[in-house]
Formats: sequence, C-alpha cells, structure tokens
Amino acid sequence: MTATKKRLKIVAAISLLLLLLVYLYRMASFCPSGKVAVSVPGVEEVQAKWPPTESPLQRSLQMAYEEQSSLIREQKAELQRTRENLARLEEQVRSLQTSTPRKYPKVKYLNYKNRKRILITGGAGFVGSHLVDDLMVQGHEVIVVDNFFTGRKRNVEHWLGHENFELIHHDIVNPLFIEIDEIYHLASPASPPHYMYNPVKTIKTNTMGTINVLGLAKRVMAKVLIASTSEVYGDPTVHPQPETYWGHVNPIGPRACYDEGKRVSETLSYAYAKQEKVQVRVARIFNTYGPRMHMNDGRVVSNFILQALRNETITVYGNGKQTRSFQYVSDLVDGMIALMASNYTQPVNLGNPVEQTIGEFAEIIKKLVGGPSVIKQSKAMEDDPQRRKPDITRARQLLHWEPKVPLETGLQRTISYFRNELARSDRFQESSNKYFDTHTP
Ligand code: NAD
Ligand code: UDP
Ligand code: UDP
Repeated sequence: MTATKKRLKIVAAISLLLLLLVYLYRMASFCPSGKVAVSVPGVEEVQAKWPPTESPLQRSLQMAYEEQSSLIREQKAELQRTRENLARLEEQVRSLQTSTPRKYPKVKYLNYKNRKRILITGGAGFVGSHLVDDLMVQGHEVIVVDNFFTGRKRNVEHWLGHENFELIHHDIVNPLFIEIDEIYHLASPASPPHYMYNPVKTIKTNTMGTINVLGLAKRVMAKVLIASTSEVYGDPTVHPQPETYWGHVNPIGPRACYDEGKRVSETLSYAYAKQEKVQVRVARIFNTYGPRMHMNDGRVVSNFILQALRNETITVYGNGKQTRSFQYVSDLVDGMIALMASNYTQPVNLGNPVEQTIGEFAEIIKKLVGGPSVIKQSKAMEDDPQRRKPDITRARQLLHWEPKVPLETGLQRTISYFRNELARSDRFQESSNKYFDTHTP
C-alpha cells in the first residue's frame, strides 16, 4: 500500500467519523426534550465542544441566554401561581359578600295588606332620596325611576340590594310599565341653572313625563302626587300666596320652561282626575334645603354655604331685597306623605312661612359658617320673583301639618353636610393627583 493510499484511507475514516458526529448532533437538536435520542459513548463530550469553531464569546452568550430563559420560565411559573392565589382570594371575597348580610337602616315590618308598592320618579334627587328613606323605613316597597340628570346613585346607595328597594335607570319622557299602588312624581330639574340648561327637555319632562305618569296611574289605578312648585305663582302680586291665587308668570321668559311646565303638569293632573277618575294630589312646594342638595345646583342655599366655606365672596343677585321662605327637607317629606294619605285633591302649599330677604339670608349664612367672606351684590337675575311666602292655612287645617325645623337648626345640618362633601372631594382630588403622578410616564 502506497503512502498516498494510506493517507486517503485516514481522511475517509475521519470524514466518516465527522459525518457520524454531525448526524448525532442533528438528532440531539431535533429531539424535543433537548436530550440526545441515541446515546453513543463519548458523543456527549464531543457534542459539548461542538461546533469546534464556537468562540468563548459565543459560548458565554449562549450561557447567558440559557440563564435568562430559565429565569423567564421561573417567573412565568410564579405569575401563574400568583394568578391562582388571586382567583382563590376573589372567590373567598365573593362568598363572604354573599354570606355576610349588608347593614341597612332598620325598616318596619308591614304585612301584605298594609305594605304598598310606591314609585318615586326623580327618587335619586335631593328631595326624592329623603322621601325614599322615610317610605323605606315605614316598611313599604319603593321603586325609584331616575335618569340621573341631576340625581345621583350615591343618594340612595344605602338601600341598594335591599329586598324592598329597586332602582331603575329610565327617562320618564318614555312610557313606563310597572305595577304600583302609589306614585310620587318628582322627576324634573328644580334649580334655575339646571332647568334653564335644556329648556326643551324641562318642558318635555313636565308635560310628556307627567302624561306617562298619569297614564300609568290610570292603567293600574294608582294614587299619584305631583311635585308642583311655588313658581306657578311666578312673580306674585298677592302676598303671601294662597292656593287660590292664579299667579303672575311670564310665559316666554327664561323661567317659563319650568313655571309653565309645572302649570301644565297641574292642568294634566286635573284633566286625568276629571276624565279618567285618576286620584291626584298636588303639592306646591316652596324653597327647600338640606343635606344631599346638589353641590353645584346654583341655588341660593348651596351657593352661599359653599362660598362661605371656601372663604369666597358671597354673591347676592340684585339688591338683595327680594324675599324667600326656606323649609327644611324633612318637613317637606312629612307634608308630602300626609298629603298623599289625605282625601284632599286640590293643590296644597308646602313651605315654611318664615320669610327673609336674600340680603339677610347672606348675613345668616356668613355668621353660621364664620370666616372672612364678604357679601357683594352682583347682576340681578332676569324675571327673579321679588316676594315669596306661602300661606299654609290649607295644610294646617287639612293635613294638621306645619314646618317644625327652625332655620338655624336646618342650616347647621346643611353646612355640616357641605363641609363633609368638600373634604371628601378634596380627598378624592388628592388621591387622583397621586395616581396620575405615579402613573404618568
Ligand atoms: P333634584 O334635581 O335634586 O331632583 C330631581 C330628580 O329628577 C333628579 O334625580 C333627576 O335626575 C331626576 N330627573 C330629571 N329629569 C328626569 C327625567 N326626564 N326622567 C327621570 N328622572 C328625571 O331636585 P329636587 O330639589 O329634589 O326637586 C324634586 C322635585 O320637587 C322637582 O319636581 C321639583 O320641581 C320640585 N320642587 C323642588 C323644590 C326645591 O326647593 N327643592 C321647590 C319646588 C319644587
Ligand atoms: N303609559 C305608560 N305606562 C302605562 C300606561 C300608559 O307609560 O302603564 C303611557 C302611554 O304610553 C301613553 C301615556 O301614558 O303615552 C298616556 O296614557 P293614556 O292611557 O292616558 O293615553 P293613550 O295611551 O290612550 O294615549
Ligand atoms: N340668589 C342669589 N345668589 C346666588 C343664588 C341665588 O342672590 O348665588 C338669589 C336669586 O336671585 C333668588 C334667590 O336667591 O332671588 C333664590 O334663588 P334660588 O335659585 O335658590 O331659587 P328660586 O326661588 O329663585 O327658584
């Protein structure tokens, strides 16, 4: 054998060995477990060094890559475990919530015969929510219908979930089909800035809304109480105002959408009473105040109290000689419930006959709140009624009702409500600032 042949044989043997190694290496990388499928003695050592050209840099990169991959695998497993724990905790919270009864204000038990199903339209508003509280505590079933234009779920949240309570998000301009015994129809914006915001909607609510309420009352033979207003007297020429006074309203002024809307609401009530034998009650409500008044409703009570609490200027519109009489909300609610229970069908004034000028009222609020606010006059409101004081002889005689809460007592409660609301909105502002500070890139 020549030397050349010998060399050729050695080269062929080495090539064969190399081919075998390449084959084994491929097998190892195709194997899903990452392990070598076929074990050949000595191959693993060769594999570990393969490919022979791998530089130290590549090797350290490969090791770093593997380390990272295993770290990611561990973190994924940890995340999965945390998710499972969270799901278990959520399940526990859910079962605790269903097994622990919510704390509700105490309600009286009424048997089937005495318990009524009562609908309150606008029941998430200021007056409506207090009426809800009284009727719930008396043991009735209460259904609130509200479109939340000026009302808030928060006003009735303490009843959510109670077996006697139901809250329906619905606009009373649209028909409503439910079964009830009594209706308190309060749905309507009440403060001048709110009802002037969308005058057409205010008219629709007080006309179409009232037709739907009366149509519903007719179908189910329910008794219905309409929340009318002292605004039906307009800028009165008779003082104080008895129910027999027909009023002095500008039909095309900025307040007309509300004043005329409520006048039509009353007219509709008596048309349904006469034509369809619907049992109607009409409450002419005078200025009312108390906790749960809307903070930004622009009414004089909320404006003056907030201005005084914030040490801002107290703004009296016009010369401050116009008068109003303010009743506390619990007195109004007592009056409405008494009127509903009575047999009297003609309109009844519900208000406090103690009269103040708006200038005097600003002084009272400044004194009760304290602080350095100054009182200043500003532009008068168009068509602002100049004198308003109810004649409550009818309510006294027929309902044996009259207001009980003195102005100062009611105002103290209202001031403390607004003080808490301001602190609450400050806390909310603070925590939302913190949130945005930490979450804004
Ligand atoms: P409010 O604005 O706090 O409450 C009115 C409620 O009616 C709100 O919850 C609002 O979301 C709801 N509402 C309005 N339009 C609706 C619609 N189309 N469908 C369903 N819900 C609707 O006002 P308030 O002071 O509680 O007044 C209640 C009633 O008493 C009103 O009818 C008002 O005209 C009458 N009123 C109030 C006063 C007063 O001084 N508060 C005086 C006179 C008359
Ligand atoms: N309506 C309602 N709920 C009822 C019954 C009537 O909302 O349970 C509405 C009805 O859609 C109608 C309005 O009340 O638009 C007046 O009803 P009514 O029966 O007086 O008049 P009609 O239906 O004959 O027009
Ligand atoms: N008013 C005021 N300053 C205010 C808000 C209201 O002087 O910041 C006056 C308003 O001009 C009216 C009276 O207070 O004469 C009562 O206004 P409110 O809006 O409370 O009710 P209204 O009886 O006019 O519906």
